[in-house]
Amino acid sequence: MTERWQNELLSSPRRLVDLVERGIITPAESQALHGVEDRFELGISEHYLGLIDPDDPRCPIRLQAIPTRGELNALPGEEADPIGDHRHAAPPLLVHRYPDRVLLMPTLRCPLYCRFCFRKVLLADGPPVRLGPQLDEALDYLRADPRIHEVILSGGDPLLLGDGRLDDLLQRIRGIAHIRRIRIHTRVPATLPSRFTPDLVAILEAYAPLILVSHVNHPREIAAETRRAWRALARAGVMLLSQSVLMKGINDDGAILAELFEDLLDAGVKPYYLHHLDNTVGTAHFRVSLQQGMALVRKLRGRISGTAIPAYVMEIPGGAGKIRVDSSAVTPADEAGTWWLNGPLGERVLYDERALGVQQPAAPAAGLELIDSR
Ligand SMILES: *Cc1c(COP(=O)(O)O)cnc(C)c1O
Ligand code: SF4
Repeated sequence: MTERWQNELLSSPRRLVDLVERGIITPAESQALHGVEDRFELGISEHYLGLIDPDDPRCPIRLQAIPTRGELNALPGEEADPIGDHRHAAPPLLVHRYPDRVLLMPTLRCPLYCRFCFRKVLLADGPPVRLGPQLDEALDYLRADPRIHEVILSGGDPLLLGDGRLDDLLQRIRGIAHIRRIRIHTRVPATLPSRFTPDLVAILEAYAPLILVSHVNHPREIAAETRRAWRALARAGVMLLSQSVLMKGINDDGAILAELFEDLLDAGVKPYYLHHLDNTVGTAHFRVSLQQGMALVRKLRGRISGTAIPAYVMEIPGGAGKIRVDSSAVTPADEAGTWWLNGPLGERVLYDERALGVQQPAAPAAGLELIDSR
């Protein structure tokens, strides 16, 4: 039996022609986007489509979901695997970068193929996930390393697994004595809230302590159904956190960020991470400068409750891990638009925003004069 959410996904647009048919893009726009469709996955859940404001060409929902030609514009500093997932791939499906936690990707399917996604090349070109044998191998790996205390289900979107498969996976992970925590990273609350059936909530409740990290980038992504889903999860004892990606034209604005984080908190979701955009190919049109990102986050402090403010973080390109974006970990290098990223183990990586298409402000902001000290 297929459930309502599965039917919704089945009828959701997966091709440009579907978008033309629904009047979301024009035939001429579709013509111009064939190259993008050939290169990357496309798919937008009915729910997310319904959030688009048809009268606003700059609608932040539209910009995240509908392809643009900019995606074919690869810059020298951009990469197919920006955060080194492949370099750290242990067996297939696993990324083991930190000793105590692993990412497990039980699917590469998503309810929405976000145009800025850092895994968009993997989602388009990755080998098919074979949940049988590959999962056995991944679980053997987890069992064999007692340092691993946490499994993070990621993807793709792990909540696109059917109830039976998800339950089975959670049960097998829970069966490993040294795994203390399971975390689920998902975009489903904002893109396919109908997935949160009473059955799913009951499954998740059974595996406490369980942390669910919802990916949400704009206050308009918090629909009534999304709030209801979070409420049900909270009642079931699931700990709720969020992560967002800072992006030009979507949320690079103090008032929008403040609204997003306060709305999340009021919906019972603690803002956890605000991510600086990774160096994924064809994402320059979304990129905000580090200087602007730091200024935005600094101003939030005076504006909203500290409980609503997430940590602003970025991945050191290549896979050395995450760092906080602040004036101690990210320091100006000699040339305008170049920065030193100072990792937790003393490593220093030069980060060149000029190779990533970031416009540098004409005059340095007060207190950041160093940036221009050539
Ligand atoms: C981000 C990430 C994690 C989780 O990091 P936290 O700081 O614990 O949220 C774990 N593994 C990989 C490979 C990651 O990229
Ligand atoms: S849901 Fe997550 S993994 Fe999927 S396309 Fe969006 S950002 Fe990427």
